[in-house]
Amino acid sequence: MPPKPRILIAEDESAIADTLRYVLETDGFLPVWCPTAAEAIARFRAEPPALAILDVGLPDMNGFELFKRLQALPGAAAVPMLFLTARSDEIDRVVGLELGADDYVAKPFSPRELVARVRSILRRTARRTDGEMADEPDAGASNGMDRATPPSLSSPPSSSDTVAPASAPVSQRGPFQLDTERMQIRYYGRPLELSRYEYGLLRLLVQRPGRVFTRDELLQQVWDDASDSFDRTVDAHVKTLRAKLRAIAPEVEPIRTLRGTGYALNEDLPAST
Ligand code: CA
Repeated sequence: MPPKPRILIAEDESAIADTLRYVLETDGFLPVWCPTAAEAIARFRAEPPALAILDVGLPDMNGFELFKRLQALPGAAAVPMLFLTARSDEIDRVVGLELGADDYVAKPFSPRELVARVRSILRRTARRTDGEMADEPDAGASNGMDRATPPSLSSPPSSSDTVAPASAPVSQRGPFQLDTERMQIRYYGRPLELSRYEYGLLRLLVQRPGRVFTRDELLQQVWDDASDSFDRTVDAHVKTLRAKLRAIAPEVEPIRTLRGTGYALNEDLPAST
């Protein structure tokens, strides 16, 4: 029998922690409760968990700081982290800071919902690790990232630095240069520093210029599991994405908002700035 996945819980309110522990245990996880950030760091350092749940409001350090400290520890790259937030301004920070947290849950939350979220994040990370270079073979063949599409690169990506394969993963679309193998996008020749979701959003838009994507479609196609997120998550990421694009070309607005509907990439973008 495989060991139960350890879930680290950094939460100072014992009533919330008890509820979390109960539902996680019931669902086959091994919860490790830490009432302070210091303890969370110590427990994480001793043995990185399968996933960490971080309350933003902790007595000795806020959850954002804790997140950064944990990120610096060995093994942290493989540990998805989920924030518990009590206020909407905290949610804005979670999303806006682009810390790279995997998700957030707003208090008050349904314990069952939280466990479902934990499960789906773990599934998603497992899938990500399995199919690191998974990518649809032809952007035109489908209107999105079908997660069921088998990876087009089943061999190790050892030749990526040498000769470009016949179907080079780099394509130029207007001012955007998309490198799906490296998960990088250049804009007017300059590389964009994108979070995972920003990359997913922009890639989708760039691959289908003019195509209108509803928020729901974007959630479905970029966020793996749409039940994980909300419409405003899309909006928040589009906002940070636009800021990054604007930093490169202030006078160009490549992403069009269709009020109440969603987003599309503008088709007529200047070739240079
Ligand atoms: Ca708290």
